[in-house]
Amino acid sequence: MNLKIEARLAHIADDLTVFRVLPQRSKRLLGPFCFLDHMGPVSAQANQDTDVPPHPHIGLSTLTYLFSGRTIHRDSIGSEALISPGDVNWMTAGKGVAHSERAHPDDRAATRVLEGLQFWIALPDGQEEIDPDFQHYSSADIPSTESPQAKITVVAGEAFGLISPVRTSSPLVLSIITAKQDFEWQFAAPGFELGLYVAQGQAEYGDELLTEHQMLVCEDGIIPPMKVVAGTRLVLFGGQPFNTPRFIWWNLVSSSRDRIEEAKQAWKSGTFPMVPGDSEFVPLPKA
Ligand code: MN
Repeated sequence: MNLKIEARLAHIADDLTVFRVLPQRSKRLLGPFCFLDHMGPVSAQANQDTDVPPHPHIGLSTLTYLFSGRTIHRDSIGSEALISPGDVNWMTAGKGVAHSERAHPDDRAATRVLEGLQFWIALPDGQEEIDPDFQHYSSADIPSTESPQAKITVVAGEAFGLISPVRTSSPLVLSIITAKQDFEWQFAAPGFELGLYVAQGQAEYGDELLTEHQMLVCEDGIIPPMKVVAGTRLVLFGGQPFNTPRFIWWNLVSSSRDRIEEAKQAWKSGTFPMVPGDSEFVPLPKA
């Protein structure tokens, strides 16, 4: 059974609203993916605060991919990376990482357009408490193929004859498909659950329309034949589902509720690893 999901609005910074695609009541985990925010496209005004100060994660990897704008990633492992459009940041929190995402100092005083995706990928059973790790790939390292109809980028995993260099924690795929003309396509990945999110534009399948900010979930790993309108940008993602559920509380993901409580206390008491040189932090929510 295919399920159609509508992204909802969520606030991630004082002045920044995003489309939250995952999790949803009707879909918590899509393969190993437990979270997707689509930010923008939004025009940030001069001196608008778009920073996300240090906050904690456990039990997951984050994947950041920008379409426009740029941001600086810093984390408690000591990583610092400028993320530009087409780059891939894969940060594994494992037993615990704090990170910040801040505007480039040169960009702050300027009006700037921001658009990007942030995914959380839950770590599989037996790997939830691994050591933190950070991978950064520049856009030149990420494979893509282009025809008169479309440009297809394979951000992670293997698809369309392309293999991404990103080291993933479990079998998954993440691909961006941008239609240059109207075209038809379909996709199958046996054993995977797949989601197809429309970041821009629209697509048709059978008698159904998939409009901007909607996602089609295909638990059988088969994306039905689609007619895609020129200018549409699709996000195809998913992977092998887990046998055990994951709990998500704020930025913390685990198969164990006790582990989440422990991480909450660590953040509250200041014993969680912190981002070097940054004394600001997002306080633990009350609820
Ligand atoms: Mn984060």
